[in-house]
Amino acid sequence: MLEKVLIANRGEIALRILRACKELGIKTVAVHSTADRELMHLGLADETVCIGPAPANLSYLNIPAIISAAELTGATAIHPGYGFLAENADFAEQVEKSGFAFIGPKAETIRLMGDKVSAKDAMKLASVPTVPGSDGPLPEDEETALRIGREVGYPVIIKAAGGGGGRGMRVVHKEEDLIEAAKQTRAEAAAWFSNPMVYLEKYLTNPRHVEVQVISDGQGQAIHLGDRDCSLQRRHQKVLEEAPAPFIDEEARQAVFASCVKACIDIGYRGAGTFEFLYENGRFYFIEMNTRVQVEHPVSEMVTGIDIVKEMLSIAAGNKLSYTQDDVVITGHSLECRINAEDPKTFIPSPGLVKHFHAPGGNGVRVDSHLYSGYKVPSNYDSLIGKLITWGATRDEAMARMRNALDEIVVDGIKTNIPLHRDLTRDEGFCEGGVNIHYLEHKLAADKH
Ligand code: ADP
Repeated sequence: MLEKVLIANRGEIALRILRACKELGIKTVAVHSTADRELMHLGLADETVCIGPAPANLSYLNIPAIISAAELTGATAIHPGYGFLAENADFAEQVEKSGFAFIGPKAETIRLMGDKVSAKDAMKLASVPTVPGSDGPLPEDEETALRIGREVGYPVIIKAAGGGGGRGMRVVHKEEDLIEAAKQTRAEAAAWFSNPMVYLEKYLTNPRHVEVQVISDGQGQAIHLGDRDCSLQRRHQKVLEEAPAPFIDEEARQAVFASCVKACIDIGYRGAGTFEFLYENGRFYFIEMNTRVQVEHPVSEMVTGIDIVKEMLSIAAGNKLSYTQDDVVITGHSLECRINAEDPKTFIPSPGLVKHFHAPGGNGVRVDSHLYSGYKVPSNYDSLIGKLITWGATRDEAMARMRNALDEIVVDGIKTNIPLHRDLTRDEGFCEGGVNIHYLEHKLAADKH
């Protein structure tokens, strides 16, 4: 096993990784910014190192500071969590060049999947179903671009190859608008992602967001842990997730699972990863791969009983997968509500002092959060302050437990989106299951009137 892991992250995921390390008897180093001296996991880690001031580019994104902290403390491996440097191929490369294990895929895999055009090509080669579109980048030549648009059929979406976080995308409804839209998206892509390359896809009008969790050891073995539905989104940000995805065609599902596992083996994938798909009319269409642990990983843990973070640590130590596909049995249903420090109506961030925090409990309730009474949520980072996760033998039971947990939880002093979750878990359409990616935005717009 690994000896000492440096956790290059903050908040709930840093605590989540620390818990897994402690369970496995691995020593931990927690790094933090000057704004984060009060983070809960710092008190539980073996060592702590302040790596810089509050702005993330000077601390959590500061590669030399993080590598120095690892050298100083004699860490043997680095876990990047999600966000920050988790999908930065240069970081992964420097970590390994400096002699530490990177708890994630090889730098070349992160690079391949970070470019959505090369990712899509790799997926096509591995027979993962993708959204129909331009094979490769959309050419600048107008005639060719128009021909591709016509062949794919409108509406289409133009997307930046280097895009992320829901930015650098433009929907085009008619041919007259294509050339101008391509130009604008190229300019944005160059400014935001230092890469002007764009590609074109068929725009699916009412899809669901369904993703597949995989774990692969980079030594020829890979498994999937089933799927998750993350269709409840606002501005392309996930709000509430569940596993398994309800009402999925079983044949299509098994076929997509098999293709994801095959793709992992084909590309020599190492670690935990997620294949994201749009699902419409019984078919899956690959959109991108996330080469890291995801915020919503707990719902897959709850229905499989497999600890994804522990498995990541084991694989980084050079071990083979501890499970075969036959060991993975999906039992019951799990839901996750992302609790954000924000106004539940305007979504404006609401950092500040948590005067009182009470965590809910009971059968099938899990709370992944770094909150405690007296903790001050800093204004410098993402507004996620915790995740409320429930499990039930059925979706209805998981939902009833979530309603109870949301009634019990108390976060005083700051505004949170808990009222939105209370509302959502009582929403008829969502309770029925299988809503599309526009459902939440439509509901929010309707509630306003
Ligand atoms: P990012 O990396 O920025 O998150 P994705 O490629 O994952 O970008 O797409 C983000 C979201 O944009 C999807 O979850 C979906 O809501 C929408 N989207 C992307 N591609 C399409 C498409 N071809 N048709 C319809 N919606 C799409």
